[in-house]
Amino acid sequence: MRHAITIDVEDWYQSTFDPNAELSERFERNTMNVLEVLAKHNVCGTFFVLGLAAEKSPQIVKAIAGAGHEVQSHGYGHLEVFKQTEDEFRQDIQRAKKMLEDMTGQEIFGYRAPSFSIDDTRTPWALDVLVETGHRYDSSIFPLKKSRYGIDNYPPSPQIVETAKGNRLVEAPVACFDWLGKRRAVGGGGYFRLLPYWVIRKAWRQCEKNGRPGITYMHPYEYDPSEMDAFKDKVSLKMRLHQGLGRKGFPNKVDRLLHDFEFASLKDILAKFLAKLP
Ligand SMILES: [Zn+2]
Repeated sequence: MRHAITIDVEDWYQSTFDPNAELSERFERNTMNVLEVLAKHNVCGTFFVLGLAAEKSPQIVKAIAGAGHEVQSHGYGHLEVFKQTEDEFRQDIQRAKKMLEDMTGQEIFGYRAPSFSIDDTRTPWALDVLVETGHRYDSSIFPLKKSRYGIDNYPPSPQIVETAKGNRLVEAPVACFDWLGKRRAVGGGGYFRLLPYWVIRKAWRQCEKNGRPGITYMHPYEYDPSEMDAFKDKVSLKMRLHQGLGRKGFPNKVDRLLHDFEFASLKDILAKFLAKLP
């Protein structure tokens, strides 16, 4: 059973707090750290690269693709999909796709929305726009309801879904698992950073038992525990505590997961579904 490690390449302050902020150099350094980790484990990852990050640092995109990893799109500006109109969304993903295709010389056909901002109520047009702009898989629907995103009880395994207009694409939700009578998030972010590793391993084993890949997601900045101190003036203490929590122990957990389970790129894992699309 092969699983997937996905990395949303973006800058923490720009993506989390201020869409108009200049991206810092830190994300380049942190992305290089992630590449080192994957090389150490001989694992092929899937990088959803933000257009703004690619624009600021084309050499990072080249380094990712050059190391043999899968490059796909995280959109251009990192504004949540539900904050955009249908037309703005179309322009945002077209711009990112073209930019990444020009840089890599490869077709870009996978997408992850900023902050899992595609759901069943606010963005009914989003999946159709993805198909219409040449995307064939999406990994933006969080498979349980959280305060800011997600769809309750969404099918947790990758599958072909039919869109509102009758188009088809592959949806690949990030990992979740059932524990103590409830479906829980485990794939990445604060959930991954705060859960002890034995729980994460239990979740991955459950995925294997149920015959589905566990899709983890992470950000280069999670490899950067000192970033919180650098933003003392701009970000409140409460927010820094929340966002910085668990960053120190994070690399070790990723190491253990990559050591204990087998990983491949998302496009390889989804190949059998992708082959059935027109
Ligand atoms: Zn993001």
